[in-house]
Amino acid sequence: KCHNELVRLKGNIRVIARVRPITKEDGEGPEAANAVTFDPDDDSIIHLLHKGKPVSFELDKVFSPRASQQDVFQEVQALITSCIDGFNVCIFAYGQTGAGKTYTMEGTHENPGINQRALQLLFSEVQEKASDWEYTISVSAAEIYNEVLRDLLGKEPQEKLEIRLCPDGSGQLYVPGLTEFRVQSVADINKVWAARGLGAGSAGLNLVDLAGSERVGKSGAEGSRLREAQHINKSLSALGDVIAALRSRQGHVPFRNSKLTYLLQDSLSGDSKTLMVVQVSPVEKNTSETLYSLKFAERVR
Ligand code: ADP
Ligand code: MG
Repeated sequence: KCHNELVRLKGNIRVIARVRPITKEDGEGPEAANAVTFDPDDDSIIHLLHKGKPVSFELDKVFSPRASQQDVFQEVQALITSCIDGFNVCIFAYGQTGAGKTYTMEGTHENPGINQRALQLLFSEVQEKASDWEYTISVSAAEIYNEVLRDLLGKEPQEKLEIRLCPDGSGQLYVPGLTEFRVQSVADINKVWAARGLGAGSAGLNLVDLAGSERVGKSGAEGSRLREAQHINKSLSALGDVIAALRSRQGHVPFRNSKLTYLLQDSLSGDSKTLMVVQVSPVEKNTSETLYSLKFAERVR
């Protein structure tokens, strides 16, 4: 670890929005009409027309549907390299199902997203610095579903894992039994990488594709679907509470209200940098969820 940079918490949490293009799946007619516009002079403003009423939000940056994967990565690049300097970095993709979270994090084969580009950059940076420093890079991938934590790379994917305090008295958290692979190249990672990954542990970079933020619980879901929706709502609002508390420098940060925030506690506090990418669907029929997502963005910012 080596850095002299002054840690200013507010500056270390950035919230950006990315609006996906309208696709065939959006259908035709008034439901699929565009409801999102941008400010030609200010790329931090987004305008939404919700039920005939215009609403505007200011974030740290707003990417229109024209932004490429490379454009978005350019915004993220400095964060990735700061994890080599000892910062814990968390990048979250938030938004309703179909708004583009996986496209931004994972991308496609032809248009890889943040995950691939970040790892490529990490390896090339580390190679450059290898003459002065010794680095090891390991990957882990975990899934949190209904508040149960599971290893996506382990031999026993059904096993429930727990988050515990390190026995060394450092106050750090760890997950006993979570598989960790030492990797030396992007090709190595691709061999072990699970599609939906959440890196955890002492090392620095957490790439998180969150569950859909749509409010299923309010639309009459029942049984297991309702339970799932309630767990998702709980962990997303816990994440919102934690980031808002960090941002406003409240004394008490409620990390323990969900597995997600507890798992990421060390990575969100101390020398940390967080980026929330709020994914937005541009079409008319989704404006209620879009409004909800942008309000979430505003709250954590
Ligand atoms: P989510 O993970 O939030 O459910 P996806 O990432 O799967 O959403 O995106 C839904 C669909 O929209 C996918 O077919 C995806 O390829 C497409 N898509 C999302 N964002 C973009 C984008 N910026 N450019 C082109 N296609 C996109
Ligand atoms: Mg997805």
